[in-house]
Amino acid sequence: SLYTLIEASFPEDRSRVALEAPGRSHGPLIWSFARLASTAARYAAFFAGLGLVKGDRIVLQVEKSPEALCVYLACLRGGFVFLPLNTAYRTDEIDYLVGDAEPALVICDPSMEEALREITARRGTPHLLTLDANARGSFMDGAEKVRDALPAAVCAAGDLAAILYTSGTTGKPKGAMLSHGNLAANGIALRDVWRFTEDDVLLHALPIFHAHGLFVACHCALLSGAKMIWQQKFERADVIRELPRATVFMGVPTFYTRLLSGEDFNRDLVRHMRLFTSGSAPLLAETFEEFRARTGHAILERYGMTETGMNTSNPYDGERRPGTVGFPLAGTQVRVVSDEGAVLEAGEIGGLQVQGPNVFTGYWRMPEKSAEEFTADGWFKTGDVAMIDVDGYVHLVGRAKDLIISGGFNVYPKEIEELVDDMPEVLESAIVGVPHADFGEAGVAVVVLRPGQMLDEATLLARLKERVANFKVPKRAFFVESLPRNTMGKVQKNLLRGDYKDACR
Ligand code: ATP
Ligand code: MG
Repeated sequence: SLYTLIEASFPEDRSRVALEAPGRSHGPLIWSFARLASTAARYAAFFAGLGLVKGDRIVLQVEKSPEALCVYLACLRGGFVFLPLNTAYRTDEIDYLVGDAEPALVICDPSMEEALREITARRGTPHLLTLDANARGSFMDGAEKVRDALPAAVCAAGDLAAILYTSGTTGKPKGAMLSHGNLAANGIALRDVWRFTEDDVLLHALPIFHAHGLFVACHCALLSGAKMIWQQKFERADVIRELPRATVFMGVPTFYTRLLSGEDFNRDLVRHMRLFTSGSAPLLAETFEEFRARTGHAILERYGMTETGMNTSNPYDGERRPGTVGFPLAGTQVRVVSDEGAVLEAGEIGGLQVQGPNVFTGYWRMPEKSAEEFTADGWFKTGDVAMIDVDGYVHLVGRAKDLIISGGFNVYPKEIEELVDDMPEVLESAIVGVPHADFGEAGVAVVVLRPGQMLDEATLLARLKERVANFKVPKRAFFVESLPRNTMGKVQKNLLRGDYKDACR
């Protein structure tokens, strides 16, 4: 099981610090490897005492805390299936997901207890427990008797370890079923490619209900015996305060733009750091360059998805190319395929497919959808559009669902977004396709200006006409205060398509 692999990776001296959670108001701030292991064992025994058996699902919707991580470890240890939910979800979303997952146990934040009491009663969930992120109270308080620690369950590589819901950027979130083998293969490849060792200190500011924070970040540390400093969420000042103690930082692009927003983020603060990584959404070449100029560090951009963990990474040694997501991880293969299914050459744009031990087993309770997303020869269709250059670097061009077909021609939004973002007045932009009377579909630019800057629609469109073919130029441009983003910092283009659906009729 993944759990035995994790425990085997702990340092010989288990009194070493595994995790620090500065800023907590209650509960232990410092967790040794021994404490993580014994807490996971106690939790697993407690769940078994409730009657849970291997394969039962445990839904967890609590704020990030060391105890929440121990629930994950307890699942891996006991053979239960870990199913974390986005902490931003409210009653209707939780109700749907609890109905979909049919868990044996739900663990929620005390603030959600009342709502969950009602949902679990209606959905027939046998058990509901609460866990406070600040450990002012936990399901273990007053637990009459916890069975003596049970041995770790025997799990085969194919046994289910977790169900993680996708971010819901393109529609309803889908539950990706990940096996012990999927997670172990990906975790080891990651740890090795980024050279994690016991001497590392990972500053962890990502949520743990998502693949990036849970699998990419935690697994690197747990499978190498490195220490983590945990922040409940990204707060710029907290990150600046803790960076001097860290060796590695992992972020989504918005973390980096926020770090760069003040002069106190500079070369001196991060001179000692070993690695900065970025993923979950495209890192603008502009951000990469600004970061390098300010700190001397080249952010390592990588690409992953809930369904596959991490697919590709820019090299640890060697050139990190801005605007690319690097090479496939050890054991993982990628290819670019035409609409007709032909494998394309370097430089050609098409659908990106992945194969390897990291690729999930299917979507929870969606057999048809799962079958559709795999080719006959077993490759997973990522839904991302990409090109592999002659040197083997993967360039993500966008999502297939965001591709615009205008008058029969393909328009890749990212190409136009980069041109708009390059304009000095512009902070960021999104190009989306909307219905158009003549062309079927046409692009609309939704633009956020830098504070105090002015730019009008006609000027923006005229500038684009000078740079690209007419069919690629959006038909309209709109200026807004901000772009809608989900918790992982991804632009929600489906919302924009709805907002501007009548803009070109
Ligand atoms: P849903 O599948 O529910 O629509 P989602 O695809 O955003 O949501 P995730 O699994 O969290 O859910 O995200 C995976 C996607 O994130 C990838 O398919 C890709 O489109 C995008 N992504 C991840 N890393 C990068 C990156 N470095 N650059 C650009 N896009 C990225
Ligand atoms: Mg997706």
